[in-house]
Amino acid sequence: MSALVIAEHDNTSIKSATLNAVTAAQACGGDVHVLVAGQGAAGAADAAARISGVAKVVHADGQSLKDGLAENVAAQVLAIAGGYSHILFPATAMGKSAAPRVAAKLDVCQISDITKVGGPDIFERPIYAGNAIATVQSGDAVKVITVRTTGFDAAVATGGSAVVETVAAVVDGAKSRFVGRELSKSDRPELTAAKIIVSGGRALGSAEKFQEIITPLADKLGAAIGASRAAVDAGYASNDLQVGQTGKIVAPRPYIAAGISGAIQHMAGMKDSKVIVAINKDPEAPIFSIADYGLEADLFQVVPELINAL
Ligand code: FAD
Repeated sequence: MSALVIAEHDNTSIKSATLNAVTAAQACGGDVHVLVAGQGAAGAADAAARISGVAKVVHADGQSLKDGLAENVAAQVLAIAGGYSHILFPATAMGKSAAPRVAAKLDVCQISDITKVGGPDIFERPIYAGNAIATVQSGDAVKVITVRTTGFDAAVATGGSAVVETVAAVVDGAKSRFVGRELSKSDRPELTAAKIIVSGGRALGSAEKFQEIITPLADKLGAAIGASRAAVDAGYASNDLQVGQTGKIVAPRPYIAAGISGAIQHMAGMKDSKVIVAINKDPEAPIFSIADYGLEADLFQVVPELINAL
């Protein structure tokens, strides 16, 4: 029995979501191997080999894998899938795009968004926007899994010395074509990997106020910025900052929610945060029910005070 983790990477380094997936793979039992599929990705393969607990890195390097097209990544996984009992993807955009293709081709059920491993064939996953946890048992010979990264601690990125085995890259399936990528540039930590997040809601009232109130607090704390969907829909913040069921799933220490009511769809994305701080002027706001620290106050008054005090 061995598990294959599909690495999320940028060809030179390994993204942190991979480390959480490695921890989930270790819990499945058996050896853990990591597939690094890319082009010019020797740096990422070396980084994967240093992850503690990884026994082998399978490195596929070629033009077909340059842009991470899901069709080609899935084909690469299938090319080496024989012999693995578990194939795990981080539940990121990449993982969620490639995993179903692999599961369908292997004719097995995908087990999505797991947050706990109860045994080699037993997994927990949140359902109903995180309001219930389903325990699922899979009878499939191969388990194709996506891993909710906030459910597992990150494996230690150093200390390992796995062997790196090179395999041939698959031929481009020509089912899709890479057209372009628009990346938002920011000096801030990436939202899903951030250790501190300051998040703003509808209460901010405008993009200008969001910028004026939330940004300086995030700057002081070296935090990433998040937002509720109401704030995003109103144009106060860009939609890549949305936290929640239809946004990003985060688990920082701490998550500071300012002017956010705590709708279940928002909490689905942040309730696993290690420490939750809520600032809201309504004592009945649901966010207080999960907050470790609650400040019942007008955010326009207390956030600037907080910034001055820091
Ligand atoms: P509101 O609910 O309007 O809350 C604003 C809060 O600010 C209130 O609690 C109020 O008391 C407080 N407030 C007002 N003025 C001040 C002040 N001066 N100082 C302090 N506090 C103040 N939402 C998400 O966030 N993420 C998602 O991914 C998401 N996905 C969804 C998916 C579906 C299918 C659906 C139906 C909804 C989804 N939503 C999501 C929307 C969600 O239901 C809520 O509408 C949204 O989260 C509300 O955002 P909010 O808390 O900013 O606004």
